[in-house]
Amino acid sequence: MDWISEQLKERAAQHLLRTPGTYEESGAHICIDGKEYINLSSNDYLNLANHEALKQKATEYTNSFGTGATSSRLICGTQKSHIELEEKLASFKNYPASLVFGSGYLANIGIIPALAGKGDLIIADKLAHACMIDGAQLSGAKLLRFRHNDLSHLEALLQKSSDYRQTFILTESVFSMDGDLAPVKEIGELAKKAGANFIVDEAHATGIFGPSGAGVTSMEGVQDLVHIAMGTLSKALGGYGGFVSCSTDLRSYFINMARSFVYSTGLPPSAMGSSLAAIEWLEANPGAGQTLLAKAERFRQKLNAAGLDTGDSASQIIPVIIGDNKRTLDIADKLKAHGILAVAIRPPTVPQGTARLRCSISLGHSDEELDFVAEEIIKACN
Ligand code: PMP
Repeated sequence: MDWISEQLKERAAQHLLRTPGTYEESGAHICIDGKEYINLSSNDYLNLANHEALKQKATEYTNSFGTGATSSRLICGTQKSHIELEEKLASFKNYPASLVFGSGYLANIGIIPALAGKGDLIIADKLAHACMIDGAQLSGAKLLRFRHNDLSHLEALLQKSSDYRQTFILTESVFSMDGDLAPVKEIGELAKKAGANFIVDEAHATGIFGPSGAGVTSMEGVQDLVHIAMGTLSKALGGYGGFVSCSTDLRSYFINMARSFVYSTGLPPSAMGSSLAAIEWLEANPGAGQTLLAKAERFRQKLNAAGLDTGDSASQIIPVIIGDNKRTLDIADKLKAHGILAVAIRPPTVPQGTARLRCSISLGHSDEELDFVAEEIIKACN
């Protein structure tokens, strides 16, 4: 396996070798080697990962139901807590049913191959998340990509759908690395016209957009156009796990046919407890998403006023697009020296030549902190 070390060296030479840091905490602030940092790289958008109510319910569920589900959901790993969360998620998303998976990644690589196969067509946005693409590739269906958010390109590709048994359109509602929104309603209408199925990944919309953070599908009221709204419990909801919201038939189908559901242990009760507490928190704080988006808007405007490129960001995710890998790493290092963690995001996570700082804003960041961060980013980029 000599090629392994060669490949690692090659990656390092291109400034693409990645090694995860080790952190003592999670959330909007983080301690590294005894030094405090403002953390712009976590997805703890609502500052819930360390919330007392979530910790308490996670502990309560561990004490009542144990530390693990102990088997696949289909054997004896479905506990009351799983059903309780699935019912809560269905009413939260305003869909007839929901099904929880081990993670968001496992949800996407489970549902897509369960539905699509050889002879089917999948058309995915060019920037759709790796796990949607992995699911599409696992399925064996023909995979085409439409230019990011480009409705006319999608419409042109849909012309080909008559050559296939079924067609699926895949996109994210809030894009993970760009923070822009997909025109979900318009795509849904195109899908309907073409007789295609529509799957939307709401990983970064969940908790932020729509009534009580139920997502863009709820904000736009397009549950009838989106056959499956997928989400994760691991970002704004501060816990772990993934889910889909869909019809009751689709739920039963996935229970039987989604291999990542069938052949993997159910999530631990603590994860169900913390997610239930997070949704209860959202119901009690329905304006939290709007407060976060206003914070993000203020931050984005400061960066834009200084001429920095934040793409089409319109959410709590604000990329500062630099381009060059090495320059992006250097800027991230400068920020770190000033107590700011904004990890450089490089290819293959983002397209070549678009390395960036991906700033994610959290309710845990004060406006003063965000002003300081914006000033330091502007200085570091000049
Ligand atoms: N979809 C999107 C858009 C994501 O950004 C992510 C995580 N980065 C996932 C799915 C996977 O979710 P999870 O982390 O729960 O596996």
